[in-house]
Amino acid sequence: MSAVSTHPVTVDPDLSEYSTVMVVVAHPDDAEFSCAGTVARFTSEGKRVVFVLCTSGDKGTSRRDLSSVELAAMREAEQREASRRLGVAETVFLRLGDGELTPDIAFREKIVRQIRTHRPDILITHDPFRPYALHPDHRAVGITAVDSVYPTARDPLYFPEHLREGLEPHKVAELWLYGSENPDTIIDVTETFERKIDALKAHESQVGTGETLAERIGERLRDVGKPYGREMAEAFKVVKMRR
Ligand SMILES: [Zn+2]
Repeated sequence: MSAVSTHPVTVDPDLSEYSTVMVVVAHPDDAEFSCAGTVARFTSEGKRVVFVLCTSGDKGTSRRDLSSVELAAMREAEQREASRRLGVAETVFLRLGDGELTPDIAFREKIVRQIRTHRPDILITHDPFRPYALHPDHRAVGITAVDSVYPTARDPLYFPEHLREGLEPHKVAELWLYGSENPDTIIDVTETFERKIDALKAHESQVGTGETLAERIGERLRDVGKPYGREMAEAFKVVKMRR
């Protein structure tokens, strides 16, 4: 069953005034599963996209012959390749512990620092308000990124040491949440579907050879697009902040 929102939905909004997008995720492959079709559209339209990886996914395996250090190195290499395939300008690794993220002020400082450094118009992250979202890192990243955008990155008395380092406060214009129960914005990703699958296949430690990926992901994206007359789409809840 595809979830059809009861809220007014915008399909392919005009984003021509925006030039920079930041995607803040918990683990390597989160961005590819959730929003890579949209990211590929943005980069092909000339927008600068920056990925912020809060962890390097150092516990994401059932193998017993790998250490966390080895796994993290492997997954960072996979993420760099996925980012390259999507045309992402910069990939930042915060290297916090996989499964250990907590939405505290120290974590928020790290995300605010990235916002004040890269100055995105749009910030895309996990929807922390989704009921029964089970991975603690997804909840922690979502809530911390949302709290970083408003009010923390915006107001100069938060982390004044940033100002002394030359990092000015910054207002993000729009917050885009994926995995939302109440999406209100649909992006047509029919044209960039192949690039999304290609980027997902870079995460070999997670998807193996990825033989069934196109079928599985394609089905999901078709479910999202169909009610809006699009072949394939990704969905977001958008919160507008800058006025
Ligand atoms: Zn994840």
